[in-house]
Amino acid sequence: MLRCIAASSTFQNVCKIGVLVCYGGVDYGARFVRIFIMDCFLKVYGCQMNAADSHLVSRLLADAGIREVSETSEAQAVVLLTCSVRQHAEDRARGFARTMRGLGKKVIVAGCMGKLRGQELVAEGVADLVLGPDEYRRIPDLLLGHDNLNTAPESFETYSDLLPATNSSVSASLSVMRGCNNFCTYCVVPYARGPERSIPYHDLEKQLRYILDRGVKEIFLLGQNVLAYRHGDMKLIDLLERAARLEGLDRLGFLTSHPRDLSYEMIQRMARIPQLLHFFHLPLQSASEGVLKQMRRGYSLAEYEQKIGWVREAFPDVYLTTDLLVGFPGESEEDFELTLDAVRRIGFDFAYMFAYSERPGTKAADMAEKLPVPERKRRLAELIDRQNEVTRRRAEGLVGTEEEVFVTAPAPRGQGAMLAELKNYRPVILNHTARLGQKLQARLVGLRGRSIIAEPLAKEVA
Ligand code: SF4
Repeated sequence: MLRCIAASSTFQNVCKIGVLVCYGGVDYGARFVRIFIMDCFLKVYGCQMNAADSHLVSRLLADAGIREVSETSEAQAVVLLTCSVRQHAEDRARGFARTMRGLGKKVIVAGCMGKLRGQELVAEGVADLVLGPDEYRRIPDLLLGHDNLNTAPESFETYSDLLPATNSSVSASLSVMRGCNNFCTYCVVPYARGPERSIPYHDLEKQLRYILDRGVKEIFLLGQNVLAYRHGDMKLIDLLERAARLEGLDRLGFLTSHPRDLSYEMIQRMARIPQLLHFFHLPLQSASEGVLKQMRRGYSLAEYEQKIGWVREAFPDVYLTTDLLVGFPGESEEDFELTLDAVRRIGFDFAYMFAYSERPGTKAADMAEKLPVPERKRRLAELIDRQNEVTRRRAEGLVGTEEEVFVTAPAPRGQGAMLAELKNYRPVILNHTARLGQKLQARLVGLRGRSIIAEPLAKEVA
């Protein structure tokens, strides 16, 4: 059986395992390598886009006959799909890659970090091979030793011909566009993932049908800036309407929205799609006009709040989440207070909150008036406290109500408990076993931390 035989970290070796002889070598500048590997462990960092990308990579591996294993101990190679949005994500991936190389695994760092930090990762001896988000098709050949990395990668991929592997029986995500044109000043995505390009509907329909034929009930359409989807005359709202007509699709969502691109007309049409989840993730980032301008976000707080008003009018039970970024260069205490106030006033159900992290190559990295890291952390801690209080209050408001829940997965640590979602996608913990994909009526009986506990109304549910 074919096995890894390029086991050296120096990459100038000839080695032998079993009956097969070959050699491993890499010179990032010359982009030259030969590695023979058959068992591979895939590790994903970062956003939902990377999670969706991992299903494409799984498809590529499976089609090439490469076995994807669930334990690193079984793998000769490790492929990391990485994220460069924050230093912390990079540090975690770097640490894992270093550990894997220490164990003699071949390490391919793919994705945003592969694109932006490739040369330094190879120079540091952290990665054997590095690939950007548009080079995933080469992974199988690199593992099998058929790629010499000399050819230029295809520029700006969409992978629209690939049928993604699905790892959940009830819920899946599908990238409908890639890249971003916005160049928010703190963000590396446009540099790592290139300009926006949308996948034509006829390809998406094939992918959607493929996923639905496997029994998936809930699909999220993804894009770094998904509201900007456009192919010919088709915009995201047209795509949502057409996707909703596909047989078997029960629940439909979309991520991530740029508030600037959300229009009144779009919201009105969304409200007429029965399968559309009443869930909006609208990253605010900051409530200070000055900071929003410095971030180049393209909306004012007033415009943002107006759009939230439209959403709440059309979807009174909306589950509203956001992203918040504090400690941006030049953010004053008053700017920060405005964000704290907005959190309470707007009443987000949940927020992903971050302290500003300098990303080399972005405009913000060159801005003066950087705040000391401890001050960024202090603001983040205060923001988290504020948002947790709001999250808890909004969850408490639902206790005692009866809702339909959709069962998505076994709860990680709960014996006999399941993860489920309300109709608006709000996550709950169901304190009973149930079939994946089952819908049932439940009473929301209380909170565990900030999580809502639901109890099925019928005695026999599974
Ligand atoms: S919209 Fe802004 S924050 Fe979002 S991916 Fe594009 S550049 Fe980054």
